[in-house]
Amino acid sequence: MHNMGNNRPAILLVEDEQNLHEALKLNLELEGYEVTSAYDGSEALQQIGAAYFDLIIMDIMLPDIDGISITENIRVHNNEVPILMLSAKNAAADRILGLKKGADDYLTKPFNLEELLLRVAKLISKNKKIQVKESVGDIYQFGNNKIDFKALVAIDSNGTSIELSKKEAMLLKLLIENKNEVVTREKILQVVWGYNVYPTTRTIDNFILNFRKYFEADSRNPRYFHSVRGMGYKYTE
Ligand code: CA
Repeated sequence: MHNMGNNRPAILLVEDEQNLHEALKLNLELEGYEVTSAYDGSEALQQIGAAYFDLIIMDIMLPDIDGISITENIRVHNNEVPILMLSAKNAAADRILGLKKGADDYLTKPFNLEELLLRVAKLISKNKKIQVKESVGDIYQFGNNKIDFKALVAIDSNGTSIELSKKEAMLLKLLIENKNEVVTREKILQVVWGYNVYPTTRTIDNFILNFRKYFEADSRNPRYFHSVRGMGYKYTE
């Protein structure tokens, strides 16, 4: 069944000033965004570990861990989520450091709400464009294997027909469309599992193990389906 909620971009709002937080949340929701709140750094890190976001709005000055350290932590984990940083007035050094550590944009407080909304929309659409790759067709062949994405069936090199689950087909398509590139776990979660269900790394690993059983001549020495430790998964030919 179609879930309307799945089409709303998800934003994590990290801001400890209650009034500003509530005003921003309300306005972002009126613009059609799904907003998750964090009022301090550890809450933010917990949310980031548990869910996919299209954008993070990150205040620098927080009661515990500062926004720059959180940004650094996000990038160390190869999470490429766009980050819009909010900094206090006269804190140019913070802004520069924030950008160096991986923030994509920043606004100085007090800021114009219209400007914030414009920047939010821009960062989200820019990120979406990067994520959309050239689509493979309904049928894809590699080696002696063939996948029919529409019929949810694959034919292996022995001519055996394999029924694919919807999620298997989606993950295969995602990996093949990003041939020779690492697809991060966050990206897989977003595309294959959607916004609100979060499988463990092991779940994705099990899908990859199945793909090897289906399609690799030697599943211990995979030619097509690779795990890249700490980063994600990669399809090569
Ligand atoms: Ca603050």
